[in-house]
Amino acid sequence: MARYMEVCLSDPKYGYYRRREPIGAAGDFITAPEVSQMFGELIGLWCAVTWYQMGAPERIHLVELGPGRGTLMQDALRAVRGEPEFCSAFSLHLVETGDRLRDAQCQRLAGAEAVWHLSLESVPPGPLLLIANEFFDALPVHQYEMTADGWRERLVTFHDGACRLQLAPLPCALNRPGQPGDVFEHAPARNTYMADIAARLQRHGGAALIIDYGHSEGVNGDTLQAVRTHRAQSIFAEPGLADLTSHVDFEALGRAAPGLSRHGPRRQGEFLRALGIEARAAMLQRSASPDQAKEIDTALHRLLDSRQMGDLFKVLAVTQQDAPVPAGFERYAAVAKAL
Ligand code: SAH
Repeated sequence: MARYMEVCLSDPKYGYYRRREPIGAAGDFITAPEVSQMFGELIGLWCAVTWYQMGAPERIHLVELGPGRGTLMQDALRAVRGEPEFCSAFSLHLVETGDRLRDAQCQRLAGAEAVWHLSLESVPPGPLLLIANEFFDALPVHQYEMTADGWRERLVTFHDGACRLQLAPLPCALNRPGQPGDVFEHAPARNTYMADIAARLQRHGGAALIIDYGHSEGVNGDTLQAVRTHRAQSIFAEPGLADLTSHVDFEALGRAAPGLSRHGPRRQGEFLRALGIEARAAMLQRSASPDQAKEIDTALHRLLDSRQMGDLFKVLAVTQQDAPVPAGFERYAAVAKAL
C-alpha cells in the first residue's frame, strides 16, 4: 500500500504532483493557508517569536516542507517584515518534490531569496525553524488488517487494468490489539522524516511546527483517502489523478523524536486562538468592506470551528529539551503539568 501511495503521488511521469494542480478552488483540496492569509501570518510571527526565545541566533534556516502554492510562506514573510533583525538572520529553504508546485512557489515568492531542495538532507546544517503544514499526511503508509489469525498486510494487486486490495498470504508479527476487520496504519516514511528533523534540532537547536489532520493517540482505523475536485473517491478509482493522504498518528511522530521536548499535539483551533487569530481578524475587519468582513468571519470559522478544521487538525511543536515553551502552547503546557 505504501508503494502504491508513493507511486500514485510521486511517480515522475504519472504521479499526482506531476499531473495535477492539487490545491485551490479549481484544484482538488483547500488547505489552511489557502483559507485565509491569517494562517501564514501567524505562523510567520510564531517563527519570529521562537527565534527571539532561542536568543536570536545570528543565522538560522527557515525551512518549509511541502510548501504547496507558496501561500503560507508568502503570508509569513509579509508578516515578519516588521522584524528586520529576524529577516536578516534567516535563510529560506523550501523542500518540494513536485515540479509544478515548485514553479508556483517560485512565482509566489519572487523576490525572496529561497533555495529549493528535494529533501531535507540537502539543507545545510545549522539552527532550524521548520514548518510542515499538511506535509506528513502525503507521506506513504502501510496498512494492516486484523484477521482470525492475526494482522495481515494489505497489498495492492493489478489485474485486468484495475488495482485491487489483497491481504498478504501470511499474518505478520505485529503485537497490537485489534478486532477482526480493524485496520492499523504504520508510516515508517513519516517516522524517518521526523527522526531526521529531531537529529538536526538536537544537534543545532531550533524548533519544528507540524500541522496536519490526524489523531493524538495511535488508534486503529482506515484513514487512507482519495480526493479529486473536492470529492472523496475510492483510492483505486483514478491512480495518479486523485490526491492520496492518510491521517497522521501524532503519537508515533512524537516517538520518532526522542530526546526532544514535545509540545502538544494541540487542536488547531486552540492553537490559532492562543496565537491571537481573533484579534488579527478584528484588525483586518476594521479596514474591510462589509463583504470582505463577512469573508474573514467565514474563514475564521472554517479554521477554528470544531466541526470544520478546528479539531481534526492538530499542531505539534518539537524543541530541544531545555528550550522555552513555544508560543501557542504555554497554557496547554501548564494544564498538562497540572494533570
Ligand atoms: N503546505 C501546503 C501544501 C500541502 S499539500 C499547504 O498547506 O497548502 C502537500 C505538499 O507536500 C505539496 O507541496 C507536495 O508537493 C509536497 N510533498 C509531498 N510529498 C513530498 C515529499 N516526499 N517531499 C517533499 N515534498 C512533498
